[in-house]
Amino acid sequence: MTNPTNLVRGEEMIPTSNPAGLNLRDRIALGIYGITASDAISQNVCVACKASAMTFRDQLSGREYLISGLCQTCQDAVFTN
Ligand SMILES: [Zn+2]
Repeated sequence: MTNPTNLVRGEEMIPTSNPAGLNLRDRIALGIYGITASDAISQNVCVACKASAMTFRDQLSGREYLISGLCQTCQDAVFTN
């Protein structure tokens, strides 16, 4: 008898306790940062540096936080080259 979950490829390397409930963004964040963007946003912390993420330069940065979970400082580090 074949376990159908064994047929799903590409899931083995992603550590998560709830693989079916996580979208790609959260699985990536969990793999890199150890916390999902959704969890970080719900706690108002940065997904990357875990600092409080309450203040943003502008509306665009605030919206970006709701997507990526990155605080203003980390957004600046990621998006500024
Ligand atoms: Zn940060």
